Amino acid sequence: MTKLIIKIDVDTEKGTRIGIPHLLRIFKNLDIKATFLLSLGPDHTGRTIFRIFRKGFLKKASRTNAIQIYGIKTLMNGLLIPGPHIGRRHGDVMRRIQDEGHEVGIHCYDHIRWQDHLHRMSFDEVKEEFLKSYDMFHRIFGRTAKAIGSAGWQTNEHSLWCYDHYNFLYSSDTRGSAPFFPQIGHSTFKTLQIPTNLPTLDEVLGRVSSVDHYYDDLMSKQTINVMTVHTELEGMFYVDWFEKFLYRHKGQGVQFLTLENLAKNLLQNPQDIPVRQVVQKEIEGRSGTVAAPKINEMT
Ligand SMILES: [Zn+2]
Repeated sequence: MTKLIIKIDVDTEKGTRIGIPHLLRIFKNLDIKATFLLSLGPDHTGRTIFRIFRKGFLKKASRTNAIQIYGIKTLMNGLLIPGPHIGRRHGDVMRRIQDEGHEVGIHCYDHIRWQDHLHRMSFDEVKEEFLKSYDMFHRIFGRTAKAIGSAGWQTNEHSLWCYDHYNFLYSSDTRGSAPFFPQIGHSTFKTLQIPTNLPTLDEVLGRVSSVDHYYDDLMSKQTINVMTVHTELEGMFYVDWFEKFLYRHKGQGVQFLTLENLAKNLLQNPQDIPVRQVVQKEIEGRSGTVAAPKINEMT
């Protein structure tokens, strides 16, 4: 039976305020449980303007129609107006996710800072940025976070150290086929790594003739699929498409589970989980690079 894990990256204040309630309603109607990963600090989306200088960004921004999706105001956050603090403003909607039976975890504190600057940050800077999200999560939920999936699939030896040190059940920072224990250089880390194996909607749009057929084909090739969606896209601009997508797969008998369900299941037999070296790779339809296992295997 095909299994599908929906991992929701919540990137912005608008996505938190509007996208989360949309998705909660759809999941409730279809009796689906999912994993929500939250941005807990300031929304500095406007600072993505500096990515214009990066190869491939303009092509992607125009293909996915960034202004229409995110809206002018979101794109200005942190640039001309101070970025709203998502965690301090939206604890209520965040707690609602958990109250409705979904899994909640950390995406990041400041998305733009993590995604664009992680590899230039010192160990102390990474730990400090991580701890801000860890503390804010605790303040909102009254418990420690056990799940994390980093912003922009950016991770390195400093962030992996944090996950080990703060006893996370798993992290989902990479793009690849199957779960593994990460290794960087000679350091092996004990926190299970669960990659996203399906491409994201914004990577697929405009590149394939039928988005639905494309996903169906990919999902038929692997038993367990992890799909990363975004509150700003599947929860807002493409919410109708996403609802139909879920409805169709639910009708076809696809089993939905959370990353936590999968992690607990796999960790019953840790000796069966391979160790993989983590490197940076380019992904079709995405500008910049993301973390990925050097050797990518199908299960
Ligand atoms: Zn994100």
